[in-house]
Amino acid sequence: MCTSQEQCINNNNRIIEHYIYCIDGSAVPNYNQFYKEMRIMKKFKYLMIIVPIIIIIIAVCLLVPDKTLELNGEKEITIQLNEKYQDEGTNIENCDIKGSVNTQKEGKYTITYTYKKQKVERVINVVDPSRIVINLNGDENTIVKQNDEYIESGCHVIDKKDGNITNQVKVSGKVDTSQPGDYKVTYCITNSSGLSVKKVRNVKVVENKKFEENKKGIPVLMYHYVYTKDDLPEKMDVNYILNTKLEEQLKYLTDHHYYFPSYQELEAYVKGKISLPKKSVILTFDDGQKGFLKYGIPLLEKYKVPATSFIIASKNGEKKVKQYASEYISFQSHSYNMHRGGGNIGHGGIISAMNKNQIVEDLKHSHEIVQNNEAFAYPYGDVTDIAQKAVKEANILCSFTTHYGKVKKGDDLTALPRVRVLGNNSLKGYISSIE
Ligand SMILES: [Zn+2]
Repeated sequence: MCTSQEQCINNNNRIIEHYIYCIDGSAVPNYNQFYKEMRIMKKFKYLMIIVPIIIIIIAVCLLVPDKTLELNGEKEITIQLNEKYQDEGTNIENCDIKGSVNTQKEGKYTITYTYKKQKVERVINVVDPSRIVINLNGDENTIVKQNDEYIESGCHVIDKKDGNITNQVKVSGKVDTSQPGDYKVTYCITNSSGLSVKKVRNVKVVENKKFEENKKGIPVLMYHYVYTKDDLPEKMDVNYILNTKLEEQLKYLTDHHYYFPSYQELEAYVKGKISLPKKSVILTFDDGQKGFLKYGIPLLEKYKVPATSFIIASKNGEKKVKQYASEYISFQSHSYNMHRGGGNIGHGGIISAMNKNQIVEDLKHSHEIVQNNEAFAYPYGDVTDIAQKAVKEANILCSFTTHYGKVKKGDDLTALPRVRVLGNNSLKGYISSIE
């Protein structure tokens, strides 16, 4: 008689599981084995349930998308230099963040947020607000005679990096000239980096009986070069004015409340549309000379006197317009490349040897650089009939010669006179030339 299942398997070469076979062929149920197999079966049954559940869970995890990674706040932000930057993060707190913002240095910074396979970015522009310069045309405290038309003189805006962005200016505010009083006109601009800057023009509508009208004509002062005691010109002449002398004159103008009309106002005045205050004066500086840019502009800024810089556009015009952009300076054309000899009238400037189309082309080229065409100063003051037709065709409001005189009502806008300021002139002489 066998004593174990193993023996039976060996002996009979049969699979016998639940019975113990004896030598005589009788079989006795092997309950131990039976229960053992039942237990295995049971375990297997659990696996049959658990494994599909796990598979389903994995499938669900793979098929159902993650929470979408989204930025809190704006995708692109503009902040000012040295302004505190507080990142708003994303909707998923534990996402991975790369990148930083240096608020002390102008630039475009990118912060990248990653969560699993998702990625979002935020751009932060750090900009210097002083890079945008708004130059109001004419006087920032505009004076209008009651019931005269209000002339909107506009402004010029230079972004020291992007250049002239005047065409993006939005003007708001209304002036009712029938009602004497104070009004405000606001000029707003947003540059390509999203930086917004604004400037306000104060407009005063003065009652007729209180308005002191200019009847003698408007002196348009013609200066040239500025120098200092420490920076003397190589070849001194009357076109050079010492910085302290210029300062003395500017101080006189502000102390005596002179008014600085725009070219739009001057044009309207010449056409007889409006009156201008008795003490009106316009300052112009020819040639865009180094000393004027270096020493003259800071003085004009100090006394808040607006002035025009007539620059020869072919001589680093573009660079000068950006580098010396100032709230008080309007860069205008002194031609692109006509400030040279070759003509046969007056001072021998080339303009008299050019045809109308050539002059118009030169003027338009200069306007692309100075990006203004309100005023023009004839190089060397040489004027011809053809040149006058050309400035008209180039839509210039006021063109100036070097002829001595004040601008009066009814003058020819294509050839207006100026008052030359001599470097050796006394303050007394200066005052009498503008009164
Ligand atoms: Zn010149």
